[in-house]
Amino acid sequence: MIKELNPFTFDTPGSMHLEWGGAARMGELLGEWFEQRNLLIVTDKFLHENGLLDAAKASLAACGFTVVVFDDVVADPPESVLLACVEQGKAAGADIVLGLGGGSSMDIAKLAAIMLTSDQSLSNMYGIGNVKGGRTPLVQVPTTAGTGSEVTNITILTTGETTKMGVVAQQLYADRVLLDAELTTGLPAAATAATGIDAMVHAIEAYTSAHRKNPLSDVLAREALRLLCSNLVTACQDGSNRAAREAMLLGSNLAGQAFSNSPVAAVHALAYPLGGHYHLPHGLTNALMLGPVLRFNMAAAAPLYAELADVVLGPSDADVQVRSARFVDHMQQLMNQSGAPQRLRDVNISEDSLPTLARDAMLQSRLLMNNPVEVTEADALALYREAY
Ligand SMILES: [Zn+2]
Repeated sequence: MIKELNPFTFDTPGSMHLEWGGAARMGELLGEWFEQRNLLIVTDKFLHENGLLDAAKASLAACGFTVVVFDDVVADPPESVLLACVEQGKAAGADIVLGLGGGSSMDIAKLAAIMLTSDQSLSNMYGIGNVKGGRTPLVQVPTTAGTGSEVTNITILTTGETTKMGVVAQQLYADRVLLDAELTTGLPAAATAATGIDAMVHAIEAYTSAHRKNPLSDVLAREALRLLCSNLVTACQDGSNRAAREAMLLGSNLAGQAFSNSPVAAVHALAYPLGGHYHLPHGLTNALMLGPVLRFNMAAAAPLYAELADVVLGPSDADVQVRSARFVDHMQQLMNQSGAPQRLRDVNISEDSLPTLARDAMLQSRLLMNNPVEVTEADALALYREAY
């Protein structure tokens, strides 16, 4: 059946480069891609002190780069981290920025690249499309297969005790992305599971998004989910398996491109309050909420889940209800096999806090509006209870 298309826009970084061991050739690669030579690397202490940057730094020095490393990025970074990063970059005369790490490091790199060349105050950048002017060249190198932050145009900063604010702007798309899955081989099984499931959620929620779902995101989400579902358990159980690590990193990247153009929904909306109140990793909170939200969304999303079942389980003649139920069961099984914690009680969330979490989830209207089924506060509470 030929369908007429709704208008859509699809944005993504200009260039992706995938190379096992590519980080050890960072100097050559950046030397080919850019003229600037004063590099600011944005990362976290754990990666820096564990030597993950050593080969890249040696390669950069050999190719004539001056490198300054900002390694004070923390999970859910506050504004002060960004401002310190910009200050260090300015003092060093940095004219190119490289984010290396998980979502937080890459998020800080995005805004640092802007603030190195701009006097616009951070408070004027929050929201959608409010960033004025350009930025330094920006390269992103993910070391986890999950957030997809290397291909998104959003930075989230922590602005209060449990509150966060986001900057969304075209300038936050990187110039270049390097996918070197060798950097992900040291990731422990628990973090591999949580980040991998987050990437799966990105693919599923992009595919069922009530707004801005589009054919390009659909293609990317389907292939992302195929790669992620068929490699999650291997990557968790055999972290040095190159093929599985590459499939996970590529899958996460494709899912990131999909949801950057067809935004995520209720799993993320319900996950954020768990992160805010209990300081749990983003991937883990999404893993905890995925099962209940998938079952809840069946009411409207069953036909789309049936399509995804065909992708991850192979085509079937069974009817939509059967195929979509198989899909939801399969996702639950994968999560169980990955070893990720399965219930809110397993990560010490108090049952008394569920009403507060449900109230806070309602504040995520930016995400809830994308859900295929409307979520009320009572629904949110029921979903938290199911996850408990
Ligand atoms: Zn996510």
